[in-house]
Amino acid sequence: MPTFVRTEKCDGCKGQDKTACMYICPHDLMKLDKDGSETGHAMKSYNQEPEQCWECYSCVKICPQNAIEARHYADIVPLGGSVQPLRGSDSIMWTIKFRNGTMKRFKFPIRTTPEGSIDPYAGKPEADMGKITGNGFFVEQNGYRTGDPGELLRT
Ligand code: SF4
Ligand code: SF4
Repeated sequence: MPTFVRTEKCDGCKGQDKTACMYICPHDLMKLDKDGSETGHAMKSYNQEPEQCWECYSCVKICPQNAIEARHYADIVPLGGSVQPLRGSDSIMWTIKFRNGTMKRFKFPIRTTPEGSIDPYAGKPEADMGKITGNGFFVEQNGYRTGDPGELLRT
């Protein structure tokens, strides 16, 4: 079940070229509709391919306006209920709304290192993007050989 944006809350990340949700989505699904020509809501983001969303919740957690929600599978969160995180710098608060009106909140610490201190490459060489289109780049790096179309099974 995909995410959706509450347009009344989204501020388009104040008009930045790449919004927080666009930056974080591992599947490149979020898109800012700058002029409103695609959704009728100018300067609001939307999930451009809902069927491709794997509900990783990254965009839900990073949105500074708490404008993104995920539609859950009905067996986990039946219609009328919701599960919404609110991320802070050292903790995350989950607000669970049950369909009977009950609401519960759970707060958890989220990291043990200072925010922004992680080195994602950790001493590894950075990718040389100049080689990215070269034949065999992946192969040379990892010891695999290039696929041979002639070896494909045909029926
Ligand atoms: S991160 Fe939130 S506020 Fe920013 S564009 Fe996306 S939905 Fe809107
Ligand atoms: S839940 Fe994950 S996959 Fe779906 S739109 Fe958000 S960041 Fe992308």
